[in-house]
Amino acid sequence: MTLDKLNRPLKDLRISVTDRCNLRCVYCMPKEIFGPDYKFLGRDDLLSFDEIEQICRSFASLGGKKLRLTGGEPLLRGGLPRLIGRLSRVEGIEDIALTTNGLLLPRFASDLYAAGLKRVNVSLDSLDDARFGAINGLGVGVQGVLDGMKAAADAGLQVKVNMVVKKSSNEQDIIPMARYFKDTEYILRFIEFMDVGNTNGWDLSQVITRQQIVDMIDSVMPLTPIAPQYEGEVAARYRYTGTDREIGIISSITQSFCSSCSRARLSADGSFYTCLFASRGFDLRTLLRTDISGDELTEKLRQVWNNREDRYSDLRSLEGTGPSRGAVPKIEMSYIGG
Ligand code: SAM
Ligand code: SF4
Ligand code: SF4
Repeated sequence: MTLDKLNRPLKDLRISVTDRCNLRCVYCMPKEIFGPDYKFLGRDDLLSFDEIEQICRSFASLGGKKLRLTGGEPLLRGGLPRLIGRLSRVEGIEDIALTTNGLLLPRFASDLYAAGLKRVNVSLDSLDDARFGAINGLGVGVQGVLDGMKAAADAGLQVKVNMVVKKSSNEQDIIPMARYFKDTEYILRFIEFMDVGNTNGWDLSQVITRQQIVDMIDSVMPLTPIAPQYEGEVAARYRYTGTDREIGIISSITQSFCSSCSRARLSADGSFYTCLFASRGFDLRTLLRTDISGDELTEKLRQVWNNREDRYSDLRSLEGTGPSRGAVPKIEMSYIGG
């Protein structure tokens, strides 16, 4: 096990495979900023599949077990099933998952499953076309995402649904989403709106808290809390009382989970980050492109993790009022990978 300064092991790696996306969600890539003139990474900036695999080998040899591919929209990266196939053969990797907006799943779900993917998280913030279209910035309707979920489930993938809840945007969708997904095989997870990046205009008053979400649902469909499945599980889970159906809530804002955070992140251009809210990462791409050996790379990663002391959300909670870093720029979610 590789431990950081707060004794947290390195277990998970989230890999952003592209900073591009086919949506412009207001809380992630607002279209006013990520417009036609926005400079996305070029092809040579992106880590190659060889480079990603090499990093995953080092990660696994330090005790890392879980990978999640994300972005931007990961299904925009050409050959993604091929990458998944390669990563699923890395010794020590036990679980690979994907976070996607779902629109391209009808095209790729069976190839992803055949390549070794087991699970997908599909993001959907409303069942109302007008509201979803406003949130995703491009007027894209709900049906394409539901079709993506179905294609994934039909292909054999386990599906979870991620709903970011933002005040005055989609709080009225909490109960309709809960009702709809209660009767499906997909598990719905609510995510508190987070102060990630610098462009989404976050402030605490726009957060609907975990407690508010639970109270709202519980008043019409009673909920019973259930125990975590494993140490470090980020979602607090609740069962609809008297059923085997459940929901999860990820409350980075009101109930931070830094003390058990075992996640590292790799940006699409090869920077290694030890916290979602980091300002700076460790540049692995330059190292990889200077003929570093596998053992040297592993040693570098070990050092970076050993020096880690991030606990941004805990500090934000202690300060109480808002983003704890004030004016210090953070990395955008679409770049670092959600
Ligand atoms: N494009 C893919 C998608 O939307 O699922 C993957 C990348 S996206 C950055 C990963 C997750 O982060 C999504 O579930 C998205 O809703 C969530 N997310 C993005 N910005 C967020 C924010 N400010 N607060 C909370 N969650 C956010
Ligand atoms: Fe794209 Fe996902 Fe961000 Fe929405 S949340 S803009 S789908 S990367
Ligand atoms: Fe982990 Fe950073 Fe999030 Fe805390 S704030 S849970 S350390 S990613």
